[in-house]
Amino acid sequence: MAQPHATIIGAGIIGVSTAAFLQRAGYRVTLIDRLPPGEGCSFGNAGGVAFAEIMPTMNPGVYRKLPGWLLDPSGPLTIRWSYLPKALPWLMAAARNTLPHRMKSITAARADLAPRVVSDFETLLKAAGHHSLMVYQDTLKLYDMPAQFNGDAHERAMKKSHGFECQTFTGDECREMEPAIAKTVVHGAFHGGWYFVKNPERVVKSIAEQVVRNGGEIIADDVSVVHSTDGKATSLSLKQRGEFPIDRLVVCAGAYSHLLARQLGERVLLEAERGYHMVLPNSGVSLSRSLTYARTTGAATPMDMGLRLAGTDEFAGLDAAPNWARADALWKVFKRILPGLNEPDAATTRWMGRRPGTPDSLPVIGPSKRASNVWYGFGHGHMGLTWGPTTGRLISELMTGIKSNIDLSPFRVDRF
Ligand SMILES: Cc1cc2nc3c(=O)[nH]c(=O)nc-3n(C[C@H](O)[C@H](O)[C@H](O)COP(=O)(O)OP(=O)(O)OC[C@H]3O[C@@H](n4cnc5c(N)ncnc54)[C@H](O)[C@@H]3O)c2cc1C
Repeated sequence: MAQPHATIIGAGIIGVSTAAFLQRAGYRVTLIDRLPPGEGCSFGNAGGVAFAEIMPTMNPGVYRKLPGWLLDPSGPLTIRWSYLPKALPWLMAAARNTLPHRMKSITAARADLAPRVVSDFETLLKAAGHHSLMVYQDTLKLYDMPAQFNGDAHERAMKKSHGFECQTFTGDECREMEPAIAKTVVHGAFHGGWYFVKNPERVVKSIAEQVVRNGGEIIADDVSVVHSTDGKATSLSLKQRGEFPIDRLVVCAGAYSHLLARQLGERVLLEAERGYHMVLPNSGVSLSRSLTYARTTGAATPMDMGLRLAGTDEFAGLDAAPNWARADALWKVFKRILPGLNEPDAATTRWMGRRPGTPDSLPVIGPSKRASNVWYGFGHGHMGLTWGPTTGRLISELMTGIKSNIDLSPFRVDRF
């Protein structure tokens, strides 16, 4: 029998993980991306392998804080006013998903993705010879007000009920672990399971290199059209190469995936949840673990290239110019808990990336309902690094007819 072949659009963490697991299942693979592997959103994330983050990203707490945040263009979440009408359907769907019964089922679906995150990562990083990129140190969340710490009690209880216990600490215990932490920090807690990688771009590139060593092909091109007839995708139009015939197709195009799904007649609510980072090679701060801080939605992670401050959420569409003040704001907020943090200097870099966000904080993983030879892996929002390898395994299982270890119905493409 001829070896099956799959074309994968997108060489971010989701696409390369899918390619790697499909190869393990006996497929020949071709990855197509207009950028080199790992240079889209997967380039600049906070590096968190945050498998215990089971609480939906969009939750009642976010909506409660939203009015205040919206008035502050450098706050943890912002919507550019001119973009608000376009984001409205997504924001309304996200609001509906904060109802208690939806929060419960979304949390359960996110928890289902967690158990094999670390082993799926290990499978790919070990095969690529880069297992050392993963650091098995728990991320510490810091609080400088008892009210913030008490406010997270519900989240800790929810996580515990799903098997993720969040150990808690006094401020002094936090400083024993990480002496760089400010005296103003009064509490800390582990997230219940959250490691980190030292270089997210390297993670993707090393998996991509292994895919190529195993006979996979990577094509640098832009997919402009997905052609289909009689319920099957037949070929792609590539900007440089022209017509590219396909056998099976997997769409892992990050924040652009809905544009491709739409060509097959599938409507997906996807927004670019734009996040920023600042990397300080000369931070003046030494950390052995990643830190998060109750006042913001981001992390300070010690990486190969320096201390990376990454996070926040901006709704402004795919194409709006970055607002670098948001990257600078990350420095200001982390300076409060890391008093030794040096000012940004000439070596400091700033970056903006587009998280592929769905309004129910769940990814799309599964077959197309319109084309029998198309599968989807996108919409991982704030959790794409974490869920990338597991998504790749699940898609390869679906494509080879292996029954999944979890219920995949919450991730179906026709739920929007
Ligand atoms: C500031 C920030 C911090 C984050 N922190 C974390 C974290 O700590 N932990 C975590 O788990 N997640 C984190 N994330 C989220 C995570 O980075 C994303 O969810 C993840 O990178 C998405 O991966 P992807 O492969 O879907 O998308 P991408 O990495 O964007 O890859 C998609 C690729 O598709 C290509 N593409 C799209 N359309 C086409 C087309 N038509 N033709 C050709 N190529 C195309 C793009 O060029 C791109 O390379 C963070 C994100 C940000 C922005």
